[in-house]
Amino acid sequence: MAVAVAAAATVLSLTSTAGASSAAASAPAAARPVPKGTGALTKNPIYKTGEFDFTECKELDRQPDDVDSYKLYLDHLLDCLNLSWGEEFRQAGLTFAKPKVRYITHSVRTGCGKYPANYAAGIYCEIDETMWIMISKYQLADPSEFELFQVIAHEYGHFVQDRVGILPAVDRLTRHAGKATMYAYSRRIELQAECFSGAFIGSVWHSLGRDQFDWDDLLDYKVGDALHGKRKSIVYWLKRGWYGNGPKSCNTFTAARSLVA
Ligand SMILES: [Zn+2]
Repeated sequence: MAVAVAAAATVLSLTSTAGASSAAASAPAAARPVPKGTGALTKNPIYKTGEFDFTECKELDRQPDDVDSYKLYLDHLLDCLNLSWGEEFRQAGLTFAKPKVRYITHSVRTGCGKYPANYAAGIYCEIDETMWIMISKYQLADPSEFELFQVIAHEYGHFVQDRVGILPAVDRLTRHAGKATMYAYSRRIELQAECFSGAFIGSVWHSLGRDQFDWDDLLDYKVGDALHGKRKSIVYWLKRGWYGNGPKSCNTFTAARSLVA
């Protein structure tokens, strides 16, 4: 199952989810005033915040095959994400801390095992609490590509889910669950991360100087699977986030099954 999970793009590895309970138990007790059990998923305070306040996030120029320029580009996006999400955390009364992130161009060993085992654009690993972002040869060849922007916004979404208690709650709820239940939770997690990414992208879109084509192209290239949801669901939640401009529109845990299929 680990391979199947790792094969998907921008995946939250269920390997990490399954192993996270021990890590969570040994982690220092952080103040996370969120409801217990399913309440952490359905009534999380992060849904009660407003739209993203920081609406400017210019993209830095990148040079073909210049990894350093790509790292600076991503660092700047990370600064934007920290500002936007930091304010949401404050509004929710939740403790905020910046995520750890590693940019890589080749396979590495993470706290969640070797990555990528197959193609994956990025992972968030609960064990080492780190976003691992792959800068691919394809992306390095095209400094105008938009995929990396969405990848880091999506993986940041998983980091948010971890900080606000959503991932730990799913870990507990699925500890003894069968495959169908695990997959159903995985889809709600992944589609929420897509929605979070859409919300952030939508909030800063006007400052990017990009054409509608870049957004449409992103939607066109989405491919669904059992862990991430059908393509139709992915597009729905990306758009829902985009128009919602904040996390309040991204409660996938109370959504009808048909929307998280
Ligand atoms: Zn994901």
